[in-house]
Amino acid sequence: MRHDSETALVLFSGGQDSTTCLAWALETFARVETIGFDYRQRHRIELDVRPRVLDQMRRDFADWSARIGDDHLVDIAVLAELSETALTHSVEIAMQENGLPNTFVPGRNLLFLTFAAAVAYRRGIRHLVAGVCETDYSGYPDSRDDTVKAMQLALNLGMEARFVIHTPLMWIDKAQTWALAERLGKEALVRLICEETHTCYNGDREHAHAWGFGCGTCPACELRAQGWERFVSSR
Ligand code: ZN
Repeated sequence: MRHDSETALVLFSGGQDSTTCLAWALETFARVETIGFDYRQRHRIELDVRPRVLDQMRRDFADWSARIGDDHLVDIAVLAELSETALTHSVEIAMQENGLPNTFVPGRNLLFLTFAAAVAYRRGIRHLVAGVCETDYSGYPDSRDDTVKAMQLALNLGMEARFVIHTPLMWIDKAQTWALAERLGKEALVRLICEETHTCYNGDREHAHAWGFGCGTCPACELRAQGWERFVSSR
């Protein structure tokens, strides 16, 4: 499926998943814009790696460089004021009584999609791309397919629009996400994801592993590392 004349807006956080989605969008759409959110995340490293990943994609991927359009950084600091989570405040990562980890930021993906749609509306963009995934979703209810479909409906009704929210990772696991990156951008993209993207909940950029930088023990590192092991052993 290709949309050769259309533009997509990719929710791009600078992590493995959204970087893979960015590559997917660059293979699928004629033009791609990106949007990121400053919600006063505890580890601002995510925001630092975003422009580096974009620069490297422009530099090292000839087919993609001309398609990469504007990057939008939206300040939603109010999200950190509203929530008390391990991603926005200095508290230990733990499981909560409701069965959700306290890395879950209530409303985050719902707000991200809403703000992305508002920007897309202004830019005349119909396609939104989000790296959410129901397979390895860490128990986040706002990563579920039904949530995204409900958001698509709500946004289209509420903005009198025809947005399509694409979720290329929805039904694949982390090993398959690595494999998708390899298929889209060969070894060069796998290396870029390893070296430049950031996933670790603890903001660790000191410890280097085959799969990238990170503490190696937080849930995000564990998912990324386990996916990498399965990907490497299946190659
Ligand atoms: Zn970590």
